[in-house]
Amino acid sequence: MPPTLDTLPAELLAHILQYADIYNPDATPFHPLQCLAATTHCLRDAAEEVSRLMLNKHAKLTKFPRTVIYRAKWLRWLNTSCWFCKKTSQRKAIFQDEERGPTCCAKCDRAQFPKMTMTEAIANHGLSKLDLFTPNRLLDLPTLTNGEYFVMGNFSTMLSKPDVLARKAYIHGLLGEKAKDEGYLRRRAAAHERIIKHMNARVQHGRVHERTSFIDPVDTSKTTASMRTPEGRANYVTEHLRRERAALGM
Ligand SMILES: [Zn+2]
Repeated sequence: MPPTLDTLPAELLAHILQYADIYNPDATPFHPLQCLAATTHCLRDAAEEVSRLMLNKHAKLTKFPRTVIYRAKWLRWLNTSCWFCKKTSQRKAIFQDEERGPTCCAKCDRAQFPKMTMTEAIANHGLSKLDLFTPNRLLDLPTLTNGEYFVMGNFSTMLSKPDVLARKAYIHGLLGEKAKDEGYLRRRAAAHERIIKHMNARVQHGRVHERTSFIDPVDTSKTTASMRTPEGRANYVTEHLRRERAALGM
């Protein structure tokens, strides 16, 4: 298909437009640039671009500030304005992807991204860390939207409220009648804590990370038998994961 005006590369189009009688001030209000701008969005952008080029080209006459870099202005705006209410803010949303998340004031963060703490998800929704921080050796499920929030000198793990509620519906659906028993859910969450302890794992950045180094306890009098040796810990994890899978009907 032959190229049309609006399929030409922007630089070529801007170059062509420089020959469109653009120096003629008497053409107003039917100046070629005004006519082009009224035709399509693409030609309006081209008319703007050629005007910018002309202002730069004749900067000595026009006194147009040649140092205006719109990319820098845009980036500055992105980093200093809440993307939702547009008020000045340098705070990043809690749910963000490696520092690239939106600039978001605290009020908009609450409104736009409903969330809850890990503690709340466990205590109020009958879930465990192994339910929430996936995938792990019990559940091969996607990672829930999460973020860490620095408050009172500590990092607090926050989870997306809709994600937690969807996970709750799924897990409790698998547990069936047992999910109606709050005592069972509490005991289940505590059992999962013990499995995590025997895995020598910790929750970090929304995942259960198993650490490879483990120092065997010197004073074994205060340690349960299953924690004392690598074999004991491995056997405990295998056996209790099997039980938990069975409870989920897996
Ligand atoms: Zn805001």
